[in-house]
This record gives sequence, C-alpha cells and structure tokens, in this order.
Amino acid sequence: MRPHLLSRNAATTLRHHVKRARCFAGSTRPIVTLAIETSCDDTCVAVAESTDSLPCGLKVHFHEKITANNDAYNGIHPLVALQSHQANLAPLVQKALSSAPRPDFVSATRGPGMRSNLSVGLNIAKGVALGLNVPLIGVHHMQAHALTPRLVHAMEHCGHIKPAFPFLSVLISGGHTLLINSTGLVEHAILAETKDIALGDCLDKAARAILPLEAQRAPYGRALEDFAFPEGLSTYDYVPPARRQEELERRQTRWTWSLAPPLANSKSGEKTSKRMAYSFAGLLSAVQRFTSDNSAFNDHQKSETRQCTGMSTEERRDMAREVQRLAFEHVASRILLHLSSGSAPDVKTVVVSGGVASNSFLRHVFRAFLDIRGHSDIAIEFPPVSLCTDNALMIAWTGLEMYRAGYRSSLNIEPLRKWSMDCNADDGGIIGAGGWTNTAER
Ligand code: AMP
Ligand code: ZN
Repeated sequence: MRPHLLSRNAATTLRHHVKRARCFAGSTRPIVTLAIETSCDDTCVAVAESTDSLPCGLKVHFHEKITANNDAYNGIHPLVALQSHQANLAPLVQKALSSAPRPDFVSATRGPGMRSNLSVGLNIAKGVALGLNVPLIGVHHMQAHALTPRLVHAMEHCGHIKPAFPFLSVLISGGHTLLINSTGLVEHAILAETKDIALGDCLDKAARAILPLEAQRAPYGRALEDFAFPEGLSTYDYVPPARRQEELERRQTRWTWSLAPPLANSKSGEKTSKRMAYSFAGLLSAVQRFTSDNSAFNDHQKSETRQCTGMSTEERRDMAREVQRLAFEHVASRILLHLSSGSAPDVKTVVVSGGVASNSFLRHVFRAFLDIRGHSDIAIEFPPVSLCTDNALMIAWTGLEMYRAGYRSSLNIEPLRKWSMDCNADDGGIIGAGGWTNTAER
C-alpha cells in the first residue's frame, strides 16, 4: 500500500514507526536490558531496548508482574512475599529470556526494600549476568519511580528525553513520602520526607478503619478511593484552599467528627505548619479514634482492624473523602512551600509517582491546588497507573540511563534495606552507597 492511500491514522502510525526505526539505527547502538524488581510483594520482570546514546526511544519486549497473595493478612506479609518471589521469579526470567533478545546487561533493584526479598532478585540477576558474561546494574527503587515520566516519554517518542532535569518529584508509596529536587540522573535532594508513617500506609490503615468489610480488599488505598467516589469524581465538588490560612483550618462536617490538617495547629503553631516535613500518624489516629468502638475493643485485636458498626455508609463515605482530601492537600502544601521559598527559581515540572499517584482524586487535588495558588504554568506529570505501582520497566529504564552514563555495579553488591536518594545523606545517596565503577571516567 502506498503511503498516500493510508488513512490519516494509519499514516501517522507509519510515520511514528519510521521515526522509531531511525531512532534505533545510525550512529547509535541498540542496547537491551533484562530487569528484575522484587523489593516488596510484586515479582516483576521486563526486557527493554534502547540506544547507547541519543536519540533514544524505548522498545518493550517483555513486561510481566506476579503479585503475592496477601489476602489472608492485613497488609504485606514478608514471608508470603518472599515465598512468592522464590516460586515465581526464576520461571518468569526463563520466559523473558526465551521470548526476547539476548540482554547486553542485567538491571535489578538493589534497594531500598525488604532485604531478603531484594536478595532473591539481586542473586538471580547476578547469576544471569555471570551466565551471559554481561554487566550488572543495581538500581535504586525510588530513583526508578522518579525517572518513570522519562520512561513514558521514551516509550512514545525518540530524541531528547523529557522531562529534562531539573524537576521536582513527589514519590508517594506504601513505604515512602518524599518531595525531591532532581537536578541530574544521580543528583537528588530531599526537600521533605515523612517524620512518621508513609502516605500509602496511612491510606491503607484508614481504609481498614473506615470501609465496611465487604469493600475491603488490596490494594487498600485503591479500595478507599473506589468507596469514596463510587461514580468517579464527577459528583464531588472539590474546593481547593485559595489561601494558606484556609488550608490550615479544620473543616466542619455534618457529623460529630471533623479532622485536623496535619502539622497545622501544634503548640509551636506557624513554625510547624511551615516545616518542610510530612506527618500522617495524627490524621490516621484521629480516623481510628472516631471509627473505633472502644467499649467493644478487644486488646488482642490489632488497632487497624477495629471497626465501628454504627456508622452509616454515607458517614463512612464522607470520612473516606475527608481523610484523602487532607492527606493530599498536605502533600501538595509542601510543594507550595518550596515554590514560595525563593530556593526554587525555575520549576517547570512536578513529577508524581509511586503507588498512591494512581489515585484520580489526588491528581485532581494537586492540579486544582497549584492552579488556584497561581502555578498553572507548572506541568504535573503523572505516569499511567500501571507504571505508578512497582514494575520492572522502571528498573529497566533506570538501568539503561545509568548504563548510558557509564555506571556499572560490582558483582559483590549487597541488597540495601535503607538507601537514601540524597547525595548529602549520611550514606552518600545513590552513588555514595558504593559498588559502582564508571566506564566514562576511565
Ligand atoms: P508502591 O509501594 O509504590 O507499590 O505503592 C503501594 C501503595 O499504593 C499502597 O499503599 C496502596 O494502597 C497504594 N495505592 C495503590 N492504588 C492506590 C489508589 N488508587 N489510591 C491510593 N492509594 C493507592
Ligand atoms: Zn515502589
């Protein structure tokens, strides 16, 4: 078929393919990586191909995930997750290797995460790297979440990768709540982090307190969103706080309870409300206090499983909305504080990633919050839901970016339960943890 006979859509697709083909030809060399992610309860494997220099795009050859079945537990049981990795990872890697091109190097999550779970992935990665005689790259899981919008861009286009550094990253997951200034591939500075529990942990436990038993299922954060907005966001009229004072006020409800915004009204007042930190423990305990039936409370019962049977569905729904509104506004408020601090001269993009970033209400709150406070010029990048939660494609992409920059990991690296992203942290951040050589510096 000659191109002029193609429909407009088909012609666009053809042009796209020709551009992508060019992207993988010429002076650039195609590079393939096998990637493994096992930091938590998802066993993830991907094979992806890019180029060793710009222009670059990304071809996905293989991408699968098996999630441990933790239904019988209130959350992730480390042993169940470990057994799932042990049972599923090797067969998944075998399937990937037999259906995709031979990798030029292997990428695997080195940390942060559950140490024994990381070991399963890292040890298989070392074995494959040894067997194929190719390099290994031990990837930082949170760096991978932060680079996900660049991965998405590379999947859709080739050429210069966007967003370009610098950009702000909000990383919100089951174990982390971080606001980060990303100025380069391995240069990240933590601007705010949680001083108690992570946002995802707060939402999971709030869901267990608020939701009727029949609505409870993993992932609990998503169950909380579905319960709060059964018809999507269309029927909910969210009003963002137009001024800082409104953001710090407790909104009354038609019920006997109301929830206070985190870090808003402590004894030290203004100072705490401007602190570049997150806190969700107070919000969660208020929810647990209002929903628990203390007289019927049994000491042996875990606090997060306490439930008051007296609340109507309507009241539960209002509380599910209110806890999400306050938690999401709290996260957004620290972006605003940073933007008004004078140390954020040229922020064009805020990247939001991690499991909680798949929440549609959060996406709506962030956009409305930045718009009403005069920042409609700042782009907010949310990856597609499948790439917000843990996956091996983000590990493949980060491996590819590190490989292109010349980094290689030693075969003696160990998994890291804790590993900061911040170059100024005690452990030295991504590169400071050691175990790297850089071929570009030789
Ligand atoms: P991660 O640690 O990045 O895999 O993210 C897992 C966390 O994301 C868990 O706390 C989930 O409950 C949470 N999560 C997943 N989907 C949603 C959603 N739609 N809304 C809120 N939280 C979610
Ligand atoms: Zn994660």
